[in-house]
Amino acid sequence: MRITFLGGLGEIGRNCMALEQDGRIVIVDAGLMFPEPEMYGVDLILPDFTWLLERRDRVDAIVLTHGHEDHTGALRYLVGNVNVPIYGSALTLGFARHRLSEARLARELSFIEVADGERRRIGPFDVEFIPVTHSVPSAHALAIHSAAGIIVHSGDFKFDLMPIDGRRSDLSRLAALGDEGVVLLLADSTNAEEPGFTPSESSVGAALRRVFLERPERRMVVACFASHIHRVQQIIDVALEQGRRIALMGRSMEANVKLARKLNLLHVDSAHFIDVENIVRYQPGEVCVVCTGSQGEPLAALAKLSRGDQRFMKVADEDTVVLSSHPIPGNEWSVGRVIDDLHRAGAEVIHSGVEPVHASGHARQGELRTLQQLVRPANFVPIHGEYRHMVHHRNLAHSMGLTPRHTLLCEDGDQIEVSGGAIRRAGEVPAGLHYIVGEAGEIDDRPIEERRMLAEHGAVQVSAGVDAQRGVLVSPVRVSARGWFDTESDRKLLAALGEEIREALEKGLEAGERDEAALNKLAQRAAGRMLGQRFRRQSVVLCAIAVF
Ligand SMILES: [Zn+2]
Ligand SMILES: [Zn+2]
Repeated sequence: MRITFLGGLGEIGRNCMALEQDGRIVIVDAGLMFPEPEMYGVDLILPDFTWLLERRDRVDAIVLTHGHEDHTGALRYLVGNVNVPIYGSALTLGFARHRLSEARLARELSFIEVADGERRRIGPFDVEFIPVTHSVPSAHALAIHSAAGIIVHSGDFKFDLMPIDGRRSDLSRLAALGDEGVVLLLADSTNAEEPGFTPSESSVGAALRRVFLERPERRMVVACFASHIHRVQQIIDVALEQGRRIALMGRSMEANVKLARKLNLLHVDSAHFIDVENIVRYQPGEVCVVCTGSQGEPLAALAKLSRGDQRFMKVADEDTVVLSSHPIPGNEWSVGRVIDDLHRAGAEVIHSGVEPVHASGHARQGELRTLQQLVRPANFVPIHGEYRHMVHHRNLAHSMGLTPRHTLLCEDGDQIEVSGGAIRRAGEVPAGLHYIVGEAGEIDDRPIEERRMLAEHGAVQVSAGVDAQRGVLVSPVRVSARGWFDTESDRKLLAALGEEIREALEKGLEAGERDEAALNKLAQRAAGRMLGQRFRRQSVVLCAIAVF
C-alpha cells in the first residue's frame, strides 16, 4: 500500500493524494490554490499531475472529501485525461458538477453519490464515508480499508457539537475504528498552532443576531463564502426574524443557494427573496443583501459594491457591511482595500476582528487531540497545512504518545509505504507548482520568475552592431532601461553597464568570436554579472547585438 502526496502538504491549497495498492490507484481530492500577489498574471495553481498522468490507466476513481475549491478545483484539469467515476456526497458532487459544467466537462463523467456512513468498494479499497463538521455541509472523513490495514483520512474537519443542521461528526465511529486498529492517520493541520477548541458554527448566529438587532433601521449587507451554506442559513434566519427581504448578490452565491435548497440543505421560502434590481424599492431596514467577495476578490460582488460598480445598489451611510469571514493568508491586503473603500462610501463595516461574526471550519489543538485519542493510530502523517502547521501537528501527536518512529513529516511529492503496521518513505515524484494563466492554460514557472524580476528590477535593453570582417564594433553599445529610477546613480550605473558590455564584446571579438548568438550571450552574461554581483539587481536584460 503506497500513498503519494501530490499537493496540500506545505501549503493551504491544491490538496491531492494518490492511494495505490496492487498497481491500482484511487485519487483523494483534486484541489487548486490561489496565487500569491507576486505571481503576476497567474490565475490558479494546480498540483503537478505528471506522475498521475503517466499512470492514468491504473486510476480507478476520484474520491472527494468535501466541496471546497482547494479539494475540487483542479478536477476540470484532471478529468479530461483521467475519466473515472467521482465519489462524494450529494452537495460535494453538486458543487463539483456545477464547476465542471461551466467548463463543459460534466456530461461525460460519472458521479457517484455516497451517503453518510456508507462503505463502498472503490478500486482495490473499501472506502467508508464518515460524517464530519466543517465550513461546508456534507463533509466526510474517510476510512480506507486496505490490505495494509485501516487508514483514516480526516478530511477538513472540526468537531462542532452544535452544528446548525444537527449533523455531527461521527465520533463513535472514529472510536470504533480505533478499537479495530488504525495503521495510519492523516489529518488536517490548518489550525494546529491554535490552542483550545474552534467555536461552534452556531456561535456565529448569535453574534450576527446581536449585530442585526442593534441596527433595525440600517440596510445589512453580509459577505461570506458562497459554499458556506450553514452561514448563509444563519444570516437568512436572522434577517427574516427582523422581517427583512433577502437579496442574493454574486453568481456563485445564487448558484449555491439554488443547489442547497434543492438538496434540502438550506431552508428558506422563495417568497422571502427579492431581485437585486428591486433593492432600492425597499427601506434600508427591510433588506438584507447576502453576497460573495468576503476574501476581497476584485471581481466579486463585495468589491464591486465597495467601488460603486454595482448597477442596482450603491453603498452609502445607511449601510452596515458585515464580513462574515477571515482572510485566507495572502488575501489580507485585498480585503483591507475593500474595507477601506466601503468606509470611503460611508458604510459601517463589521468584520471578525471587531465582532465574532466568523468561526473557522478547522480543528484546533483540542479537537486534534480528541481525534488522536479516538483513533489511536499506529502511525501518523500530518496533512493539509503550511510546513509549520504540520510540524506543530506532529509535535501534538508526540505529546499524545506516538513516538517519533511512528510519525513522518511529508511534503508535496513524497511517497510513503504502509506495510507490516509501519510506515516508511518510499520515494519522490514531481510536485512543483503548476500555473494556470487565463486562456493560455498551463504554463511553466519561467515567465512568472521573469515577471517578478521585471516588477522588482525593471528591464535593460542593449544594442550594438559588429563588423564581422574587421572584428570591431561599428556603433557604440547603446543601453537603455525601463522601470529604473531617473536618478544620478541609476544613470551612472547604466553608462558603466554600457562600458562593461563593450569591453566584453571587444574581448570576444579579439579572440575571434563572430557568431551572433555567442556574442549576444557574452553581452548578456557581462550585463548579468555586473548588475547581479555588484549592484544586486535582477533586471531582465534584452540584448540585440547584430553582426553584419
Ligand atoms: Zn481544505
Ligand atoms: Zn475545506
